[in-house]
Amino acid sequence: MKILRALMLLPLFLMPAISLAQTPSPAKSLKAVKFGKLWDAKGKVWSNAIVLIEDDKIKSVTANAKEIPAGAQVIDLSKYTGLPGLIDVHTHMTQYTDETPGKPMLKQLVDNPPAVEVFLARKGALRTLEAGVTTVRDLGADQYEDIAMRDLINRGEMIGPRMFVCGYGLYITNTPYKPGLNPPAGGIADGVPEVLRVVRQQIAAGADVIKLYASTGTDDDTTQFQTYSYDEIKAAVDAAHQFGRKIAIHSYGPDGARDAVRAGTDSLEHATDMDDATIQEMVRRGTFYVPTIDHNRYYLDNWQKIGYTDGFQAKTKAFIERNLETARKAQKAGVKFAMGSDAIYTMFGENTGELGWFVKAGMTPEQALRTATTSAAELLGKSNELGAVAPGYYADLVAVEGDPLANIDVAIHNVRWVMKAGSVIVDRTKP
Ligand SMILES: [Zn+2]
Repeated sequence: MKILRALMLLPLFLMPAISLAQTPSPAKSLKAVKFGKLWDAKGKVWSNAIVLIEDDKIKSVTANAKEIPAGAQVIDLSKYTGLPGLIDVHTHMTQYTDETPGKPMLKQLVDNPPAVEVFLARKGALRTLEAGVTTVRDLGADQYEDIAMRDLINRGEMIGPRMFVCGYGLYITNTPYKPGLNPPAGGIADGVPEVLRVVRQQIAAGADVIKLYASTGTDDDTTQFQTYSYDEIKAAVDAAHQFGRKIAIHSYGPDGARDAVRAGTDSLEHATDMDDATIQEMVRRGTFYVPTIDHNRYYLDNWQKIGYTDGFQAKTKAFIERNLETARKAQKAGVKFAMGSDAIYTMFGENTGELGWFVKAGMTPEQALRTATTSAAELLGKSNELGAVAPGYYADLVAVEGDPLANIDVAIHNVRWVMKAGSVIVDRTKP
């Protein structure tokens, strides 16, 4: 009687959980996924691989069909090559916009209330999954929309990649300035005490990672002026690390990059024109470089829809060339890379285009795939759970048509099927 009354008082959405708890624990969900070929990111390319999955995790990988447990659901992807679910370490999921005719995307971002942004973002989240990306590190949002989205996805209320989020990125006062679109007030911090307060505020709000903007440059603006001083950057890095969080630092130019690396950043975003000493220091410290070359290509392709003023193109084209050249130098020197798209507006679904630039910068397709699997997982501090197909890892799997180790375009354009944590999210294998 008492229990019944208590149940009646519960909100409706909690009911299924209660009734589940009353039934005996459900049988484990067993799946066996067969691939013609599998790149496991652990150093092995399998032929006729079978990935055995129990609930949301990988139990084992085998080539022996006799190991498929009785009652397992068999998914036959023998026509395809399997890869680990990919990781994009630089997105702006909550700054998704649609292409509402007559309304520039920049303006949509300013006008949409936070709840509308989070609701719309589900479309970008789905497109991200369709590109084979099952995990993202999201680097800059307003109103903690990213925390809401991460939590909705984790609760199963929204379909999207697993998210690691930063809340507000830290900016100095009014930089970069744009009429109508200014950095969110929640992230503005000047001087060491304010930097410490804002870093601590993001951690208190539930951020997984800290983001700091150490230079100008964004959208159609490719200027490279350092904004934060070394002391401010160092304070942010140390405050993040003190609470077990990593930090990602944005710098379009070499000066902010130099100080970010010296201060001990975990990853450096965008940095173009880096000097040799900074590149050597990144090698020595193991700092990750996330060049985000492809996002400027996206800006050039879509500038009218976004609403940029005509005339920025030559500078952006030159920036792309220098960005690629810097990536080439860093690759040659042995810097660690992670794949970040900087996806924003309608760029979701093009998240892995960056891999093509990495091959242009001198990587083999396999090295490029590592930037979106094992290396990205290392940057997230999740090397034992994400970025590989091996026992104990999340059952995040992608099936592509063709051989991505021979041609990186296969990974970029030929995704046919995606599983996240044991659930099939995308299936384009049937005509
Ligand atoms: Zn960004």
